[in-house]
Amino acid sequence: MVEAPVEKAKKPSPNAHLKTVPQERELRDRIRAEAHQFAKSIDRSKQLTKPELQKLGEELLQQAGFDQQFLGFTMVAIANEFWRDQVSAVDFKRRLLLLPHCLKNAEGCPADYDEFGLDCRKCGACEVADFKTKAEDLGYKVLVSEGTPIVLKIIVSGHVDAIVGVACLNVLEKAIDKILLAGIPCVAAPLLSSNCRSTSVDNDWVFDLIGLKTEAPKQVTKTYVHLMRASNQMFEPAALDKLAPRQRAKTLTPDPSPGERGPTGDPLALHEKIAYDWLMQGGKRSRPFITLAAYDALTGGKATRSADGIDISDSVKRAALAIETFHKASLVHDDIEDDDTFRYGQETLHRQYGIGTAINVGDYLIGLGYRLVSRERKTLGSDVAADILDKLADAHLKLSEGQGAELLWRDAKDKTITALEAMKIYALKTSPAFEAALYSGIRLAGPADAYEKMITDFSRHLGVAFQILNDFKDWEGDSDNKLVAGQDILAGRPTLLLALALEALTGGDREELLAIVHGEHPRQAQNLVPRVRQLFEKAEVFEKAEKLVEKYRARTEAIADAVEPTELRELLYYLVDTVLDRVEPEAPEAMPQLVALSLPLAHA
Ligand code: SF4
Repeated sequence: MVEAPVEKAKKPSPNAHLKTVPQERELRDRIRAEAHQFAKSIDRSKQLTKPELQKLGEELLQQAGFDQQFLGFTMVAIANEFWRDQVSAVDFKRRLLLLPHCLKNAEGCPADYDEFGLDCRKCGACEVADFKTKAEDLGYKVLVSEGTPIVLKIIVSGHVDAIVGVACLNVLEKAIDKILLAGIPCVAAPLLSSNCRSTSVDNDWVFDLIGLKTEAPKQVTKTYVHLMRASNQMFEPAALDKLAPRQRAKTLTPDPSPGERGPTGDPLALHEKIAYDWLMQGGKRSRPFITLAAYDALTGGKATRSADGIDISDSVKRAALAIETFHKASLVHDDIEDDDTFRYGQETLHRQYGIGTAINVGDYLIGLGYRLVSRERKTLGSDVAADILDKLADAHLKLSEGQGAELLWRDAKDKTITALEAMKIYALKTSPAFEAALYSGIRLAGPADAYEKMITDFSRHLGVAFQILNDFKDWEGDSDNKLVAGQDILAGRPTLLLALALEALTGGDREELLAIVHGEHPRQAQNLVPRVRQLFEKAEVFEKAEKLVEKYRARTEAIADAVEPTELRELLYYLVDTVLDRVEPEAPEAMPQLVALSLPLAHA
């Protein structure tokens, strides 16, 4: 029997911001009761996307005759019903309660903040103490915070299988598709206002959610969280030593501290340690995740249904690990080329150990990556290993070409650039790592000839759209990599935004922009960025770039629409949604720990 195609829900309609909380308790209860009935017919076997949830919310409001301004609240009520049974079946000890610190008594809260958020002293002046006490008594982990990346680590490291949250609708709206996409069972109670100070919530609702407890539901929603964890676990010391045994570690004494350059032990062992420490650093392991997920998708998709379904050999894991070693090598070399100071919250490798050592560590990781695959030729089969190595070499070359073109442009006297040239660089810099990761997973599962063109096209469109979104982030002062807006222009990067501006501006405006890019403008540095923004706005580059993102997104979705089997098609949709997800600039604090579940692919 031919499977019915999974239709990709398109982007939400512009009324996504209808997020009034009903002020009367009776109306809130009626909406929740309606959602309970309404959600009974929803298919829980596959993940719900935000556009689908929005559609359901609109339908419910229309059917029940409620005002559309309650759409956000209604979406939360439906999502709660969708996940209720699956949250209820999770052991209390494996649940996380997330509370917002704005619930605290703003006038006299004696609690301090630590790395986990607000350390509530349970003084009893607000509900935080009551919620926390009940949850902790049951065995929950509790965080009073909305901006702690530690939550992602807790989820991906495998300590939490469900989340109960309290947050305002603004935060929930930003977080909801991340939660849905991650497939982590999650229920939430919306705060009654979004004013960020001494807020309140329906306490009994929160207590109900905390206390949910039933047997395992018959139907479990597919999730990628097990594969994310499998990807993450490969970088734990014991797993990494098993997959890529160190050759020199035993001769290393004593343990050198970072920044201490002298040979405090066997220099070979010291060099190996620097490389392995770097490989284990930070990051979201998104590339090895893609390889594992593609492999799983073409071998039945068992890992999306259950953690017990993960059946991935060490040979496959080594191929996934190789993708990350190449990525980490490229980061070392990029940091040198850009002379970046910090990465993963600490000094970049060349700042710690010097440029020569850092270049060499990058080279070592490239060699390690190739060897991880080549040494598996007996288990994987020579053809498979050769095909993957060929794709890795191809990605390596393309990446170097893209980076080389950018570096040459930066040093060139002529700083003009066309949109086509900028996008060519984007495609070379951003897409190859994704292409190699996806190809490897598919090839590890079987012949990949029928997918090759699809993988290349999909990766190219996705990579270009992602890189354009990255340009936008530069103008929002994103919190991931750069804290100040407009750094690309000051660093002389050949962005699409610049190319679009140069194509649209004429006369003095164009000359002025070129003078800024050449570093010849008399303005002081702090005045340059606002002026560039003005010129970009005059050239309407943000609108044009936005249209290009949508065009490339549509192309990726059209490619995915035609892909079989369903498991692979769903993975591609998931990648489009997560890679091209965007954090709204006005609420950067919106549960970034869940936002971080998205999968950045570029060097940046
Ligand atoms: S109960 Fe906790 S969060 Fe609330 S005011 Fe007291 S110390 Fe602060």
